[in-house]
Amino acid sequence: MANYLNDNEDLRFYVDQAIDWKTLAENARLGGPVDVESTVQNYRDILELVGEFSADEVAPYSREVDEQEAVIENGEVVIPARVGEIFERMKALELHGLCIPEELGGMNCPLMVYALTGELLARSEVSVMTHWAFHGGMAMAMLIYSIDEGSTEIDLENHCLRSTRWQGYIEEIIAGTSWGSMDITEAHAGSDMAQLRTKADRDEDGNWTVTGSKIFISSGHGRFHFVVARTDHSEGEHKGLNGLSLFLVPAYTDHPDGTRTRHATVDRVDEKLGHHGSVTVQISFENSPAELVGKVGDGFRNMLLIMNNARINVGFESLGLMEAAYRMAKAYAADRPTMGKAIDKHELVADMLDEMRTDIQGLRALGVTAAFNEEMSQRLQIRLKAMASDDPGRAALLTEMATYKSYSRLTTPLIKFLSAEKAVELARRNMQIHGGSGYMCEYGAEKLLRDSLVLPIYEGTTQIQALMATKDHLGAILAAPGRFLARLGSSWLKAWLTPTRRRRSLAQIRWRALHAQFALLRKVVWAKWRSGTSMKHWDPKTDFAPALLQAENLSGLLVDRVILDILEAQAQQFPERQELLDRYLERAEPRSRHLHEKVCRGSRRLLDSLAEQAA
Ligand SMILES: Cc1cc2nc3c(=O)[nH]c(=O)nc-3n(C[C@H](O)[C@H](O)[C@H](O)COP(=O)(O)OP(=O)(O)OC[C@H]3O[C@@H](n4cnc5c(N)ncnc54)[C@H](O)[C@@H]3O)c2cc1C
Repeated sequence: MANYLNDNEDLRFYVDQAIDWKTLAENARLGGPVDVESTVQNYRDILELVGEFSADEVAPYSREVDEQEAVIENGEVVIPARVGEIFERMKALELHGLCIPEELGGMNCPLMVYALTGELLARSEVSVMTHWAFHGGMAMAMLIYSIDEGSTEIDLENHCLRSTRWQGYIEEIIAGTSWGSMDITEAHAGSDMAQLRTKADRDEDGNWTVTGSKIFISSGHGRFHFVVARTDHSEGEHKGLNGLSLFLVPAYTDHPDGTRTRHATVDRVDEKLGHHGSVTVQISFENSPAELVGKVGDGFRNMLLIMNNARINVGFESLGLMEAAYRMAKAYAADRPTMGKAIDKHELVADMLDEMRTDIQGLRALGVTAAFNEEMSQRLQIRLKAMASDDPGRAALLTEMATYKSYSRLTTPLIKFLSAEKAVELARRNMQIHGGSGYMCEYGAEKLLRDSLVLPIYEGTTQIQALMATKDHLGAILAAPGRFLARLGSSWLKAWLTPTRRRRSLAQIRWRALHAQFALLRKVVWAKWRSGTSMKHWDPKTDFAPALLQAENLSGLLVDRVILDILEAQAQQFPERQELLDRYLERAEPRSRHLHEKVCRGSRRLLDSLAEQAA
């Protein structure tokens, strides 16, 4: 029997050695006592089961899933038989309640188990992973939102939940009879959420309804829709993020007599380039009964609350696809002879394969680290919420939580940014290594490329991730410029004075990442001075243009630096990982020089031309 966990040495390294399961297990139990050995063994068993299920029961049907599309019949979406069968098996394996607390019928696993399950499933069929994620992922969102708004009762003493607002919905999702979706995008508003127009109204009895149309909604044929809608109608042009609120809208109610009342209409199922096992719909709400989540005006904040998780999970989704592309390329290259030897022995092909493997391992290191930090930040926030304000342990827990949170905030856009772009790059390389066969449908390389192309688009595009990372990093410098300059100075000394070549090379990459930020801030200040506008008033949209232009290049520098930090720490703890550190460093070194050069040079021509057009 094949197994996508057991055949993957790098993934097994994390599952067996590198992940601090004990800390995650204790926090998953709200700090309660845990039989660590058996609990962690249970996590490993679950991942082995998913590895086997992915390899044996999903991957063999990937082509079939790709060839079939969902359709609308009598107002309901009908999914193809094969996708239905796969999800019936998932139901039987109870894969929708992985991280839901036992009190609600779930398995209470850490979110890390969910992330790794995502990678295993995505390697077998990425669209199946996407739809699976809208089950447990949305049930967890219900729980997180309920805890955040204070409608979940937590018993910290006994380390359990007493009740939660959407318990019935969560149980329905765990049972696999329904799932949720995140309904944000509209025809005129994707990246720019301030333009959203779907509106929510409250009647005199305090009941909310939602009216509007959402497009491109993944798994939007399910029952539970988190809808971002405008509650402040005072601004005529529908602008602004503060006027947005979040609602939970059940799209239908099923009655005991087998009939169904619809509260929202699925207008169409989108025809897509790939991801055919994941249904994407356009859906309309017309005075649909809605439940307000949290407070009025907190729609954008609430969306951000689960965004980090979602973006990390796209990172693991991308990793699964990359792993599939790499293995397909490797197997083909070992088998295909040209000019007297297999193509994997030709330098250029060997180089492509080596770089693919190195990219995957670097990104997995980042993914696991980001997932750990995000999970710890969330778990500690939950405990803090339930803790008495005068609890003596509160201050220490708060500091610990803040450290995890800030690390997660800085790394999450980076993993989404690079893993999605690399998924496309690796899928493209796989196709290239297949030569003409790669272009033919029979081999599956073109399918992976088609499937990969959406990864840099949804859950915030590559450009939006790069802008976020850039603004966060530059904002942090502006908040504490003295500390930044001290770091820059000491990194410069290390970059040139560190004695051994490898360590010096690492130090130089760190220095370039810092110096690039310094160079961008210098450009921003210089451009502002040149424009003649007051230095006292800053408009990030116009004044930060020189930095925004370089956001993707800067993100490239930052992500290599973070990955190398993680790999260096790993190599210190596990000497067998030194080889990976060296391999990644060899690739990152010239890349960092190139990106640093691009950031420092910039393009005054383009910026001047944009400024002229705007004037
Ligand atoms: C298969 C699929 C599934 C999806 N699932 C969902 C879902 O479940 N829920 C949901 O709400 N949405 C979903 N989406 C929508 C997706 O999130 C949006 O398409 C995405 O956010 C981009 O928005 P847009 O299409 O309006 O593009 P735009 O926002 O118009 O962007 C177009 C291009 O301009 C760039 N750009 C925009 N603004 C800037 C800027 N300030 N600086 C630099 N570059 C910029 C973007 O990066 C992009 O390259 C899905 C989309 C697809 C394709």
